[in-house]
Amino acid sequence: MEIKYVSTTCPYCGTGCGFNLVVRDGKVFDVAHWQRAPVNGGKLCPKGRYAHEFINSPDRLTKPLIKKDGKFVEATWDEAYDLIAEKFRSYKPDEIACLSSARTSNEENYLMQKFARVALKTPHVDHCARLCHASTVAGLAAVFGSGAMTNSIKDIADSKCVFVLGSNTFEQHPLIARSIIRARESGAKVIVADPRNTPTAKQADLYMPFVSGTDVAILNGLMQEIIKNGWEDREFIAQRTKDFEKLKEVVMKDIYSLENVSKTSGIPVESLRTAAEWIAQADVAALIYSMGITQHTVGVDNVKSTANLMMLTGNLGKPGSGVNPLRGQNNVQGACDMGALPNVYSGYQKVTDEATRKKMMEMWGVDDIAEGRIGYTVTEMVNLLADKPGELKAMYVMGENPMLSDPDLHHVEEGLRNLEFLVVQDIFMTETAELADVVLPAACYAEKDGTQTNTERRVQRWKKAQDPPGEAKSDWQIICELGSRLGYEKQFAFESPEAVFEEVAAVTPSYHGISYARLDPDGLHWPCPTEEHPGTPILHREKFAMPDGLGVFSPIEWKPPAEVPDAEYPYVLTTGRTLWQWHTGTMTRRSWSLEKEAPIGWIEINSEDAKELGIKDDEVVRASTRRGSVEIPARVTPEIIRGVMFIPFHYKEHPANRLTHNALDPIAKIPEFKACAVKVEKI
Ligand code: SF4
Repeated sequence: MEIKYVSTTCPYCGTGCGFNLVVRDGKVFDVAHWQRAPVNGGKLCPKGRYAHEFINSPDRLTKPLIKKDGKFVEATWDEAYDLIAEKFRSYKPDEIACLSSARTSNEENYLMQKFARVALKTPHVDHCARLCHASTVAGLAAVFGSGAMTNSIKDIADSKCVFVLGSNTFEQHPLIARSIIRARESGAKVIVADPRNTPTAKQADLYMPFVSGTDVAILNGLMQEIIKNGWEDREFIAQRTKDFEKLKEVVMKDIYSLENVSKTSGIPVESLRTAAEWIAQADVAALIYSMGITQHTVGVDNVKSTANLMMLTGNLGKPGSGVNPLRGQNNVQGACDMGALPNVYSGYQKVTDEATRKKMMEMWGVDDIAEGRIGYTVTEMVNLLADKPGELKAMYVMGENPMLSDPDLHHVEEGLRNLEFLVVQDIFMTETAELADVVLPAACYAEKDGTQTNTERRVQRWKKAQDPPGEAKSDWQIICELGSRLGYEKQFAFESPEAVFEEVAAVTPSYHGISYARLDPDGLHWPCPTEEHPGTPILHREKFAMPDGLGVFSPIEWKPPAEVPDAEYPYVLTTGRTLWQWHTGTMTRRSWSLEKEAPIGWIEINSEDAKELGIKDDEVVRASTRRGSVEIPARVTPEIIRGVMFIPFHYKEHPANRLTHNALDPIAKIPEFKACAVKVEKI
């Protein structure tokens, strides 16, 4: 019996913890702590601890499947490749769209966008960052010149005040929560604002429950209080920023007085006053946010407002400070960095810049690629499919499950059923794959080499621990084979993920100095422009990444969500996750140690609201919005603010996204998962 330990990176959240996969006779059978792991020092949350359990599930896809007469039939790879190549050749570039995946490696995301742009010549490539942090990329890039977390995870421990807004860090990024605990042990104040009294809120020195969708009002109110008291950092504002007067004009309005913000948000005036004082008076303060901020029709406004607050108090460019968006999927940062977005190539180089487009054609050795215009986002693709059938005809989906993850599922299903040809590449038969014409079996994270980039911009290695099951192949191999069959042998002639990464480093300025040899064991934070560069854990130390080096204050007015409660739908519905499950559950629901802890969905209802509705704990109720209804067990609790209901979105049996609204942020095109109008009835 041979046992070996393979150090790699967790496939779940954006924290990017490292662990050892334990392999016996060529098969992974356990996870062991890797004390040397750079982000987590050997500690793991339950999802990481049990990240081996789904790998050898009997449900894994092992052969290509082609749908014939409505039923999947096993096929050879040649049959599947030939059919896909023939179909893709039959469509015009504008009729095909590709979805890349934050669950796959940097190399695979890079190849997917290259495949879309070079082999299919379509500008329509995007991935699930559209559903979680598109507002971060757009919002922070507009004010700082870089749309990423400004500081490192370790840094948070040096903060003297940590403001957590719209992030349940203790459940969703548990190993980042350790940095918050360390800060607190060193005397930092912790403020948490959230509609639910989450495990994160329970750790706070000050907890501010608020009504979903009032973030900008809260942030403007805090800024007004800081300015009124003269607590702003005048030196930082004068030397490092511009447009402060424009910001002041808005935030000093009477509607943003603490009294009025209290009425809008439900947070007591005293709590708002204390929060403003703690943030402004701390030697150094960090702001942490997640999807509570981003998943709104005002997601970009929310993100810019967080940046306003931290610039106002001089909390950027130093340890323990910063605007720190916590990315959801393990490689959502990397998928964005690799250009799996409709508006940029890798390294956020704009597709609309003709000089950049020419440079990419030269580097890729082709004389034509997708037009230099911005393609459709995920959300636009789905809307187009449902509302204008025939405009998009074919889709290639790698490692995404829009049939459970996207808003307004009836609309999503209607759209996907309108496709003439759908290819889904995944490790399990998902709700989306069931609608496909061809399903391709893919290798999981433990079965291939590669890199991923965590939420703090740290690029780290994945290492192969076992062979994929049956005939499953790595996503990078499948894309390369398809690229070759479409006539681009040279452009997709890669022998290994490392060879792909060498091309990534060559075409991506922020990755120029990164190589596999430099990534063991600590990884490197981008930007890392040269082979000698040590990486950049803290952004914006001397100046912002703007042409004039200045951060830009944005005057933002508060706007309510697209759909607000009324007589028919009198409550606000918000959605999120639980510690034990991951997104659409494809991996965690096949991990028995996790599934047994949270096997069914629920709707959280405030105890007083439940009393008025005559609903008891555990009773199955009907939750309805203008999009549909779900029958779901009630969890009656005082731990959620009155007037707001919460459903986790993991469960196909109780699909929260049958209820959610696909109203979009006008810039980021992110849907408003965090607030829509709902009614709840006894059945
Ligand atoms: Fe994995 Fe995130 Fe848990 Fe770390 S905190 S073990 S990366 S799920």
